[in-house]
Amino acid sequence: MADLEAFRAETRDWLEANCPAEMREPMRSEDDACWGGRNPVFKSEAQRLWMERMAERGWTVPDWPSEYGGGGLDPAQTKVLRQEMARINARNPLYSFGISMLGPALLKYGTEAQKTRFLPEIARGEIRWCQGYSEPNAGSDLASLATKAEDKGDHWLVNGQKVWTSYADKADWIFCLVRTDFDAPKHKGISFLLFDMASPGVSTKPILLISGYSPFCETFFDDVQVPKDQVVGEVNKGWDVAKYLLGHEREMISGMGLGGTGGRLGAALKDKLADDPILRADVARFDVDAMAFKAMSEKFIDELKAGQAHPAQPSMMKYAGTELNKARHELVMAAGGADALEWESDRSRGGKAAREWLRTKANSIEGGTSEIQLGIIAKRILDLPGA
Ligand SMILES: Cc1cc2nc3c(=O)[nH]c(=O)nc-3n(C[C@H](O)[C@H](O)[C@H](O)COP(=O)(O)OP(=O)(O)OC[C@H]3O[C@@H](n4cnc5c(N)ncnc54)[C@H](O)[C@@H]3O)c2cc1C
Repeated sequence: MADLEAFRAETRDWLEANCPAEMREPMRSEDDACWGGRNPVFKSEAQRLWMERMAERGWTVPDWPSEYGGGGLDPAQTKVLRQEMARINARNPLYSFGISMLGPALLKYGTEAQKTRFLPEIARGEIRWCQGYSEPNAGSDLASLATKAEDKGDHWLVNGQKVWTSYADKADWIFCLVRTDFDAPKHKGISFLLFDMASPGVSTKPILLISGYSPFCETFFDDVQVPKDQVVGEVNKGWDVAKYLLGHEREMISGMGLGGTGGRLGAALKDKLADDPILRADVARFDVDAMAFKAMSEKFIDELKAGQAHPAQPSMMKYAGTELNKARHELVMAAGGADALEWESDRSRGGKAAREWLRTKANSIEGGTSEIQLGIIAKRILDLPGA
């Protein structure tokens, strides 16, 4: 305990000295996030410094082993770091599907050579990853995927199409589900493949959302050659890796329920609530839900880090977090009235409330729909009979 308090004091001092003032301000939009990559775009020198300092200390991935670029912290120390960062409103230094999705899967299923090769560059933000799961005929029914990888002796030959691939046009590498056995039952012929998006035969086409954002793409593979050692886990057993990764993806997405700063609306909307008792009651109800979600989320993360979470718990948190985030933006729009619908000015100068509200419509679809999460909760947590 005394050690933990010493760690807290040391962490507090280090953060005070190293987190630039600008990185303690809330992000103005999702464009303010730092994603790293081969050709990283930093919005400011402060953003670059913050990412590099945190990566240097292994604190972009504090609980990963230090030999793979992590901080080597135990769960209690990781929680202290999280608390101390929250205390000064420090921004997340690096947003990364490598950190939140691929890394945990590599730690569990990767070979030593794969861990040594890929994890440190993820931790340092040097490679940006995207996720190639969904296809035009395989979304909720993901195991129906048809993108194929044929064994050509010294390489895999990949052909097919993915869809809704977030940031595929900006990513350096992809983790991708492919069919490697065409005769086996659908869950049993899938492999989990990693490859470079700069490989000949890979192309992307951005898709525009109703919000005006274009966060994802159609992704095409046309005779893409992939080295044989870039399969994670066993060939034809990629479904296990895929499911494990989905749990981590759902954990990440559930974080949007926290709404950045703990998520309560009452204080933020105070001026707009005085004359509207109905809205005031709705916001009060929302704030109670937001507090309950925050407490539940803390408990969930502790259980997860201690390896004690129920495997279906990420579905519960994903469902609760995304429904809460949608409700949050409904209330912001209701409180803003007609002004909140302002749309004409561009993203940096206006239209923020309406665009963010529209973007939340996708929350209960991305990472698996709310209906699918409810199905998992019914079956695996409540033990209800199937349809
Ligand atoms: C913003 C965003 C980002 C995304 N990013 C990525 C990404 O980076 N990589 C990637 O691979 N994919 C990504 N996706 C895709 C996402 O995972 C799929 O959209 C999602 O799994 C649903 O699949 P679908 O769109 O094919 O819908 P469908 O599966 O066709 O579902 C249509 C409707 O039917 C319902 N439904 C389907 N099956 C059932 C069932 N068994 N029980 C009850 N209801 C059912 C669904 O809930 C939904 O309402 C993203 C999606 C969004 C919106």
